[in-house]
Amino acid sequence: MQIAYTIKEVREQVKAWKKEGLTVGLVPTMGYLHEGHASLIKKAVEDNDRVVTSIFVNPTQFAPTEDLESYPRDLEKDSRLCESLGVNLIFHPEPEEMYAPDFCTWVDMDVLSKTLCGKSRPIHFRGVCTVVSKLFNIVTPDRAYFGQKDAQQLAIIRRMVRDLNMDIEIIGCPIVREEDGLAKSSRNTYLNEEERKAALVLSQSIFLGQKMVREGETDAAKIKAAMTEKIQSEPLARIDYVEIVDGLSMQPVDTVKSPTLAAIAVYIGKTRLIDNFIV
Ligand code: AMP
Repeated sequence: MQIAYTIKEVREQVKAWKKEGLTVGLVPTMGYLHEGHASLIKKAVEDNDRVVTSIFVNPTQFAPTEDLESYPRDLEKDSRLCESLGVNLIFHPEPEEMYAPDFCTWVDMDVLSKTLCGKSRPIHFRGVCTVVSKLFNIVTPDRAYFGQKDAQQLAIIRRMVRDLNMDIEIIGCPIVREEDGLAKSSRNTYLNEEERKAALVLSQSIFLGQKMVREGETDAAKIKAAMTEKIQSEPLARIDYVEIVDGLSMQPVDTVKSPTLAAIAVYIGKTRLIDNFIV
């Protein structure tokens, strides 16, 4: 397995693979890899002849008040995991490699990026769309893999690829959870013991909403109210949002039907966690 720090190295390697007629899968990540990331990588290894995992904590998707500096990093451990899963190349650029000092070109999106996480993180999806476009241009993958854990991000990437005619197949992968239900996330490491217990209220609220839908409830307001009440029962939890939206447009709906997305963002202490289910 190769670790590339420069765009040039990646381009040379991918060019050589393509010359041999090999297909390339890309798994973009911010590192501190866990089983959620591993599930994307495994699928990419299954589907493609060669797999690139990018590990880049992208500064442009963090607001100045957010956790860019404290975001957990461990390249050595990540490399070992990638190697064991069959990754061929890790792309791990420094921010300076990705962003020239006078960088000023952005990929931005209307509508889908204005609700849910886009409301509380107004520059987030501009940073995501821009960096993912750059990674697509650098790696030129046949397929790219994203987790349903970040459901709005997945919908936005799918739309971006469609709207900008990018010739890349986007593969969505299911949420991987801890045994007790908490969705795996690099940010879970921020939680102390008490907060870790309190964080269970996210998946409990998701499972409750899912159960209501399974039992035939279609009134979004009722599902939202029950999920909200569940979260509010936990004193350490503070709701950022509980929303039920159309699965494609990310706009609020009154009635649940396929594809509908129920998504939540909740602060547990200072840590902001997200979870969702799709109907
Ligand atoms: P991140 O490193 O948090 O930016 O995540 C990189 C990719 O892994 C994104 O496409 C995420 O949606 C995906 N991912 C993160 N956590 C999970 C999880 N628990 N289950 C499935 N996919 C995940």
